[in-house]
Amino acid sequence: MNKRKVFYGITTFFDELLFPEICVICGGSTATEGTSKRTSAVDGNSVRGPVICPKCAKDVVRYTMPNEHPGDIYPFGKLYCYGRYSGALKEAFTRYKFKGEVWMGKRFGKLLYESFGAWFREYSYISYVPVSRDRFRKRGFDQCHEMTAEISKLSGIETLRLLEADSGRQKQSRLGFVQRSSNASGKFRVNGDGNREKVAGRKILLIDDILTTGATLRECAELIVDELGALSVDAAVFASGRSDIGRN
Ligand SMILES: [Zn+2]
Repeated sequence: MNKRKVFYGITTFFDELLFPEICVICGGSTATEGTSKRTSAVDGNSVRGPVICPKCAKDVVRYTMPNEHPGDIYPFGKLYCYGRYSGALKEAFTRYKFKGEVWMGKRFGKLLYESFGAWFREYSYISYVPVSRDRFRKRGFDQCHEMTAEISKLSGIETLRLLEADSGRQKQSRLGFVQRSSNASGKFRVNGDGNREKVAGRKILLIDDILTTGATLRECAELIVDELGALSVDAAVFASGRSDIGRN
């Protein structure tokens, strides 16, 4: 077990200790009659019971099927989306991202896994859309990495950091020679060549937080296919406000 795994195990332990049965959306209790443990429908593992309370489960618009090749938004393959980015779900995610409530990331990752984990078995590796180093320093955490680490833990599929995001300042200086395709903004690049051998010919799952135009996902997927030789890149986002998501 490497140091990161030990550290992650410890933080997960305290997370369970401090927030065992608190709804990640409203902060209310999620305790169900008699037992605080239940069995995951996906893999039969025992998990702490429900991530969101029955009221929030009713209020949140959740999607249960992946979008298959949803046209211009994400032409590369499947697109999984947990829920509609509005109301209480949007408020909760905003709290996570901008108020430093890092523990919520694991719960959001768990929600994604509980919805779609059965489909995730086909992927060799999971990766995620990273924040820039500047943003990481200011925020103190990487919101997509927190969610991805939990999905990795629950699924047993290894996470690889395949991409780096440049800060705005670097972006200016890099423009001009990074414009490889219509999807390239120059904001992202591959994180060295070290992962090429692992990724070549493999199916990758790419995690992002909120889908709006889809430009970020397309750019990142294209880099993973073109520069690292992945066979395919399917994408999973926590939420989207788009009305064309969730209709196949
Ligand atoms: Zn709730």
